[in-house]
Amino acid sequence: MSSNHSIAQSLCNIRETIKNNKNIRLIAVSKYHSVEDIYEAYRCGQRIFGESRVQELLQKKESLSRISDIEWHFIGHLQRNKVKYIVPFISLIHSVDSLKLLAEINKYAEYYNRTISVLLEVKTSGDTNKKGLNQDEVWSILECLKSEKYKFPYVSIKGLMTMATNTNSNSIIIKEFEIVKNLFDNLRYNKIVNLDEFTELSMGMSRDYLYAIKSGATLVRIGTYIFGDRS
Ligand SMILES: *Cc1c(COP(=O)(O)O)cnc(C)c1O
Repeated sequence: MSSNHSIAQSLCNIRETIKNNKNIRLIAVSKYHSVEDIYEAYRCGQRIFGESRVQELLQKKESLSRISDIEWHFIGHLQRNKVKYIVPFISLIHSVDSLKLLAEINKYAEYYNRTISVLLEVKTSGDTNKKGLNQDEVWSILECLKSEKYKFPYVSIKGLMTMATNTNSNSIIIKEFEIVKNLFDNLRYNKIVNLDEFTELSMGMSRDYLYAIKSGATLVRIGTYIFGDRS
């Protein structure tokens, strides 16, 4: 976006909306936007940035290497052969969609001696083109971890992430957020997860974050509303 004022103003607007809920954190989704735009948001106090492509993330991190207090979150589909590049510094991976990916993250996390925080990405529609685990897969992975059938000691599962269907129907979006919130609550209620760790619900983008917040989101991932359209 050309005007810096808009980035500042948009951040203000969002902060105003979420200020009464101390549990909500804003991820500024800077994919396809410039390092200058990221820096502008940084000057307005934003510290958490979300990127969805590994190469782009590495370049931006390098360009901003003089800034030490940016938290980078990975929100896009992560290929296993790229895990090793982000494990050394990533703060949260929102988009874990397979057991194999989890195993790969654990492997490099051990190598770099870091514990990596992740979310499991859930899809609520039956659309096979959509990324993410269905609800049964989420249960089964978490049950296997609980029973120690699989052990990933260098991974900390912090919660769930979802992307609502791209639709004009608010009721569909709200229903999808409610499904994921219910899954989150049920996993906690049944103690399938570590209650101290499993506390985050990442949902809501520019078009639907207000609904996500109503449904209990703790992390909202907002790009267009802050930075303008992606070219
Ligand atoms: C791009 C993206 C966002 C941000 O979308 P906007 O509509 O620009 O706010 C959020 N989450 C994920 C996973 C994304 O890929």
